[in-house]
Amino acid sequence: MNREVRVRFAPSPTGPLHIGGVRTALYNYLFARKHNGKFILRIEDTDQQRFVPGAEEYIIESLTWCGIKFDEGVHIGGPYGPYKQSERKAIYKQYADYLIAKGSAYYAFDTAEELESLRKQYEAEKKTFQYDIHTRTSLKNSLTLSKQETQDWINAGKPYVVRFKMPENRILQLHDLIRGEVTVNTSTLDDKVLFKSDGLPTYHLANIVDDHLMQISHVIRGEEWLPSLPLHYLLYEAFEWTDTMPLFAHLPLLLKPDGKGKLSKRDGDRLGFPVFPCNWHNPDGELYPGFREWGYLPQAFINMLALLGWNPGTDQELFSLNELVELFTIERVNKSGARFDPEKAKWFNQQYLKKLSNDELTELIKPIILERGINTTPEKLHKVIGLLKERAIFPQDIINEGIYFFQKPLQYDDAAIKKRIKPTSINFLEQLIDDLNSCNFANEELETAMNTFCQQHQLGLGEIMIPIRIALVGTTKGPHLGEIMEVLGKKESIDRITTFISYLKQFAF
Ligand code: GLU
Repeated sequence: MNREVRVRFAPSPTGPLHIGGVRTALYNYLFARKHNGKFILRIEDTDQQRFVPGAEEYIIESLTWCGIKFDEGVHIGGPYGPYKQSERKAIYKQYADYLIAKGSAYYAFDTAEELESLRKQYEAEKKTFQYDIHTRTSLKNSLTLSKQETQDWINAGKPYVVRFKMPENRILQLHDLIRGEVTVNTSTLDDKVLFKSDGLPTYHLANIVDDHLMQISHVIRGEEWLPSLPLHYLLYEAFEWTDTMPLFAHLPLLLKPDGKGKLSKRDGDRLGFPVFPCNWHNPDGELYPGFREWGYLPQAFINMLALLGWNPGTDQELFSLNELVELFTIERVNKSGARFDPEKAKWFNQQYLKKLSNDELTELIKPIILERGINTTPEKLHKVIGLLKERAIFPQDIINEGIYFFQKPLQYDDAAIKKRIKPTSINFLEQLIDDLNSCNFANEELETAMNTFCQQHQLGLGEIMIPIRIALVGTTKGPHLGEIMEVLGKKESIDRITTFISYLKQFAF
C-alpha cells in the first residue's frame, strides 16, 4: 500500500453513541495505528432536524474513556479542518452546482406534501413510491421543466432540492474489503437528495466531498451504509475522483444476545445490560446507563468489542490495545453479524479486574466508598480488596459483597441458623471468646486457635465456624474466617460474636 492510510470516524450527533459506533471507531483506530496512518474525527451534523445538543461532547468523552485517540478532528484541529460539517457549509454548494452543470444532478421542486400524497397513492395500490428513473419524468424538476422555467422558479425563491440523476441500467460491480464483490443494477436505485434549499448538503454529498478533501484512503463503517455504496461510487465517478476513491469496508451488525436482529437501546433496558459506553441523559431526563458507570474497565470493554466481529484466528481472548493494533486486519473481520453476549462482557471485566493491583483497585473504589458514606482506612480497604478481588466482576462488587467489613451485620440469616446451629453451641461460643481474647489476631493463628478449640471440645469444625461466620458476616458466605477476623480486628470480632450470642439466646430454634 503506497498511499498514506487516512481513516475517519464520522458520527452524526443525533444521540448517544451506541456500542456499535464505538466498535466502528475502534476498528478504524486499530487500522490507522497498524498502518502508521492517521485517524480523524469528523462530525456529520448537516441534518439540523436530528441534531441533539450534547451528543458531540458525549462522543468525544466516550472515545476518550475507551483510550481511542485521534490524530485530527473536531476537538483537536488539524490540517484538513474544519472537521465539523456545519462549519464547512460554504464548501458544498459548488460541488452540487458542478454536478448540475454536468448533467449528473438536477433541481427538484416537488413539495413534501406532493411527495407524501404520491407515496400514499402508491401504497393504496400496494406499490412503493421511489423518486427514480421511472417517476422523475412526471415530476416537477429541471428535467421536465424548461431551462427558463427552472431559472424563474429558482429566482422566485421556490424551495428545491438537488437530486442525483441515477444512470439507467448500469451494472455496477463494487468491491468491499469484507464482503467482496457487490453487484447492483442502477435502475433499481432512487435519485437521492444531495443538497437542500436550506443551503446544506445531505449526508451523501457532504460525506463524499469531505472524504475526498480530507484524502481518506479507507472507509470503514457500519453495514447499514452498504446500500449507499453504489451512489457513493457514482458520485466519485461524476466528480472524476475515482483514482483516489477510498477502499470500502462495511462492518457486520451487532446483534441481540439471541441473535435475532440488531442490538438496540431497548434490549439493554429489557435485558439489563448497557448498550452505551457512558451514561447518557436524554434531553427529557431519561437515563441510558453506560458501561463506564456499570463498573466496566475501558480495557475490558475495548477487548470485548474488538472480538465482536473480528477474530484473531487463534484461541487467545485477552488482548491489550497494543496487541490488537499488532494483530488487527480487515480480512479477519467477519461477514456475518456478531452477537452481543452480556455474560461474556462480564467475563472480560472480571479478567481485567483481577489483573489490577490492590492500589489501582483502591483508587477505583474510593469514590464508591465516599458516595456510600462508608468510613474506613486505606489499609483496611486494601486488605478487603485483596480478599475479594478474585471473585468480583465490578469494583463495586467488592463493597457489596464485603459490606460486613465496614458495618456490623444488620440482620442474620435465620434459615441458616435454624439449619446449621445447635443451641448447645452458645455455651462453646462463650468459652471460645476467652481463647480469642488471648490470641494474636492474625489469620493463621486464629484458624489454629479455632481448630484446637474444636479438637479439645470434640466438636465438628462447622459447629464453631458456622456460628462465628454468621456472627461476623450475617450469612454463611465470605472468605476464610481467619482472614475476616484479621481484617475486623480483635475488638470488633469479639463484639460481633458477643452480640450474636445474645441473639442466639433469644432465638427460637
Ligand atoms: N454520519 C454517518 C453515521 O453517522 C457516517 C457514515 C460513514 O461513515 O460514511 O453513521
